[in-house]
This record gives sequence, C-alpha cells and structure tokens, in this order.
Amino acid sequence: MKPSDLKNEHKNTESNQSSVNNTTESVASSNFIRDIIDEDLKTDKYKGRVHTRFPPEPNGYLHIGHAKSICLNFGIARDYKGLCNLRFDDTNPSKEEVEYVESIKEDVRWLGFDWDDREYYASDYFEQLYEYAVQLIKAGKAYVCELNASQIREYRGTLTEPGKNSPYRERSIRENLDLFERMRAGEFPDGSHVLRAKINMASPNLNMRDPVMYRILRAEHHRTGNTWCIYPMYDFTHCLSDSIEGITHSICTLEFENNRPLYDWFLDELNVYHPQQIEFARLNLSYTIMSKRLLLTLVKEGYVDGWNDPRMPTIGGIRRRGYTPESMRRFSERIGVAKRDSMVDIALLEYYIREDLNKHAPRVMGVLRPLKVIIENYPDGQVEEMDAINNPEDLSLGTRKVPFSKVIYIERDDFMEDPPRKFFRLAPGREVRLRYAYFITCTGVIKDENGEITELRCTYDPATRGGDAPDGRKVKSTLHWVSAEHSIPAEVRLYDRLFTVENPAAEEDFRSCLNPNSLEILSGCRLEPYMANVKPGERYQLERMGYFCVDTKDTTGDNLVLNRTVTLRDQWVKIQNKGE
Ligand code: ATP
Ligand code: MG
Repeated sequence: MKPSDLKNEHKNTESNQSSVNNTTESVASSNFIRDIIDEDLKTDKYKGRVHTRFPPEPNGYLHIGHAKSICLNFGIARDYKGLCNLRFDDTNPSKEEVEYVESIKEDVRWLGFDWDDREYYASDYFEQLYEYAVQLIKAGKAYVCELNASQIREYRGTLTEPGKNSPYRERSIRENLDLFERMRAGEFPDGSHVLRAKINMASPNLNMRDPVMYRILRAEHHRTGNTWCIYPMYDFTHCLSDSIEGITHSICTLEFENNRPLYDWFLDELNVYHPQQIEFARLNLSYTIMSKRLLLTLVKEGYVDGWNDPRMPTIGGIRRRGYTPESMRRFSERIGVAKRDSMVDIALLEYYIREDLNKHAPRVMGVLRPLKVIIENYPDGQVEEMDAINNPEDLSLGTRKVPFSKVIYIERDDFMEDPPRKFFRLAPGREVRLRYAYFITCTGVIKDENGEITELRCTYDPATRGGDAPDGRKVKSTLHWVSAEHSIPAEVRLYDRLFTVENPAAEEDFRSCLNPNSLEILSGCRLEPYMANVKPGERYQLERMGYFCVDTKDTTGDNLVLNRTVTLRDQWVKIQNKGE
C-alpha cells in the first residue's frame, strides 16, 4: 500500500468508524500468508499442524515492527488452533544480554500472547548443531578455512563478479574433522579458523558462496557461559532451529528472501524436517526508526531517557506512553502483511489508540498552563459539588463530583485580552460556560509590572448552574477548569514526533533530523482532586487536552507525572490544512 493510499484510508476511517471495524476484520481473516496456510491444510502438507514461532535475537528491546511480527505469528497460531514458540536466536554472545531476554518476554506478554512452556533458545541446540556440522563435514559439504575475515570478503567476489575458491577448500574430510574438533577444543585463537559450507563460489546469490557456519569467539554466553569458544552463525542456526522445533511456517521479513536457498541447502543436505519459509514486508513507520542498532544509538548517546522513553518506538516506550495492547493488535491487523516494502503513516497508529481511549478512558479536568480566575460575586468560602460524567461513551464508568469555588484556574490559552475574530473563548466582557458549572463573564484583567496577565476577574450567573441558562441564551464556548484550593499539582509531559522527516533512516545521519521539540515538560499543572488517587499506568482523558497516562517511572507518592499519549485530534492534519 502506498502511503498516499493510507492517508486516504485514514481520512475515511476518521469519518466512518464502522467501516474501520469491517476493514479490520476482513484484513485479519485473509492475507497471502493465511492463503498459503489454508492451502497447506487442504493438501495435508503438515498433517493438519500449524506451528509458528517468534524468533528475536536478544540484542535490544523490541519495537513496533516486532509487535507486528508477534501479532502475526501468535495471531496465526491462535486462529488456526496451532502453536507459537518464543525462541531466542542467541548466537551472538558479544551483543546479547539477559536484560533483553527479560524485556522481550515482558513485551510479548503485554501484547496479550502466551507461549506456555515453549520458551526456547537456539543455544539449547548448540550440541545438536555441532553434530549437524560434523555430519556436513563427513559428507564433504563443509570445510575448515584459514582465510581471515578480509580475505574471505575479497575471495567472495561481488554481485557482478564470481568469487574464488579458498585455498583450503579441498582439504580432506579427515583433516576437516580434526581441525573442527580442535576449533571446539580451543586450540586456535579467535578469528584464525572458520567452518564454511562448500556450496558454490560462482553462485549469483552471494549467500551461497561458501558461507561461514562457525567462528571462533571467546565470549561468555548469557546461557552457556564459557562452554563454547566456537559459535554457529545465524543463518546456519536459524533454519535448523526451526527444523528442530517442527515449525510448519517460518515467517520472516523480506530481507531473508535471498537466504532461503541457503536454508534449503542446509536442510536438504542434512535431510532433516523442512519448514516452509514465507517472507513479508517489514513494517516501517513514518517519522521514526525501526532498527535496534539505531535505537541503541539514541539510548547510548543520551538523546532519549532510556529504552522506554515515551518517544521511543519500542514496545516499552509506547507502553509507558500509554498505548494499549488492544490498540497495537488492532493496528497490526489493520496494516496486514504485504510482499512489498512500504511506509505506514504514524497517524494510523495514533488513530487506533485514540479510538480505544475514546471509549474506555475516564474523562477528567486538568489545567496544563493555569491562569487564576476570581469569581467576584461567588460567596467566600462556599464550595459546591458539581456532577460530572466520567465517560459519555461508556456510562458504566459512572459519575463523580467536582468541587467548585470562588477561585479557579482556567487554561491560559483560553483567554485573550484582544481576541481576533475567530477566537470564541474568554475575553473581556465576554460570557463563556465552565464545564459542569456556570456561565461566567470576564470583568477585569490583572497584570504584573511587566504587563503579563496574572489573574482575571469574573462574575458568574447563579441561574446557570449545571451549564444551561434558563432564558435560553447561548455562549460560544465551554472551558475546562479546576478549583484552585481543591486542585492537585502535577507535571505533564507533552510529546511530539521524535524526528522531523518521514524517513530518518534514509538520512546520512539520522541524528541530524531529531526533533528538538519532541518533549515539552509542564511543571505547574493543576488537576481536579479526583486525580489524587490515580495509579501508575492508568489512562485518562484530560478534557480538551488529550489522552494521558500516569508515568510508571517518575510518579512517586507526592509527584504525579502524566505523559500525553496522544492529542484528541490529529494535530498534524490541522497544521497541514492551515498551510493550504
Ligand atoms: P532490527 O532490524 O530492527 O534490529 P531484527 O530483525 O534484527 O530487528 P530480530 O530480533 O532478528 O530483529 O527480529 C525478530 C523477528 O521480528 C524476526 O522474525 C524479524 O523478521 C521480525 N521483525 C523485525 N523487525 C520487523 C519489522 N520492522 N516489521 C516486521 N517484523 C519485523
Ligand atoms: Mg535480525
């Protein structure tokens, strides 16, 4: 799907919610991967079995692209009453850590999926993989090579030139077996020897030019410790791990299309169970990056506050930001799977979280940039409890009382001393409605010595309690507010896109297009007292200001921190329209 198609689709979904529901269901029930599975079930290729896996390498935190893969693999297992394994492809001890394993498990669980007891590690198969390698050597299909890394590269050739055979290619089987055993025994230094598959140095597919199967690497592995000083390469390990686990459909991203002939070669030469690999296009999202390597750079160089910074496209980041697992699953279903790479508009993801929170998040009042208002004709010391509905979309969420008193705060932006024609909110002499309370009229503006407005004076009409005038007179706007005395303080963090360009990964240096205004911290916010008892992770709408999530990291007993998950409407569309 072209981004432009998506934009149109997105516009449609904004105006017609029920069509979104239909689209979501129909996408979920058919795509080319499911077609292949249906066909395999018809022909009884795997004896009725459907067995997938999600195979992360534990070298970083998962991102939204991985969420798509998780929803796809676990979703297929769920819908076909099959199984999905969680397997860590942990073949690279120098970049992998237990911390990543734990976070990956947490993220998969958060998305709502369960692997039961099927938590596997490629490292559990190291002994078996070694046996497979020996088997290939015995069949004359693998050899120990002493070229160094740069020589191997040089001998490999290019896309236009064939490679050259290694001078070690014709060693005897006996010699190869001996050398491989001694590699394992630690007799040789790191990088001095590798085991290579003996395929074809002239193959048009570079992956087939005698790829490395094993390297010598003295690095402690997070599971096998120092048991091994040789480690199998990803390509050798991945396809055989799928085979060992009896995976029926090995779903992976498009960049592995050219690896498939190699996987087929290993499986066929070893004559072992052969899963079906199916490639799909990886998810790219506009205005962000989807690569663990680049995300790691942002973390290491301090551009963000760790892996779960709410601006990060990591699952930890969007969770802390306030996204719900339901919205992520619906988004993944909606974007479906494709054979060609495309860029998905981040606005579509925002659409799904808005749709979810609109229905389920309680709505309360909070003033982000407070301006004090004194209601001069309101009795001193009087407090009234106003009735407020928690969510008109879901009346089961009930009602609450909001205290009203003589001194209130309103949003600074809701007042203009000298308003332009289209500004309908509060101004001198003008009457507006306070949500759930009264009509007020602005009668005075107080300023400090710099001319900054510090306070407003208003009067209220006692006959308008609840927000309606008995004489039927109308006002053009309704403002949110809090009672100064009863309100509680909070810090609110507003987020914008992390990058200023659609495809940061295509820039020479992706850091150069980081959005300097991606985080705005507002420290003097005031919330209605209902918010005094909120818990980290809970989500609320602050009326007119957006959807917010109580921060799970920095919220403490007396410091309430809210992250804005998303604005109420797509602000970018508004900005774009303004420019037209
Ligand atoms: P990255 O390139 O972001 O560092 P990766 O592909 O190296 O990620 P893995 O841990 O190897 O990360 O990925 C685990 C699974 O998630 C793989 O099956 C991979 O194909 C899939 N995956 C990774 N990125 C995406 C993406 N952007 N869209 C869909 N699936 C993805
Ligand atoms: Mg990978």
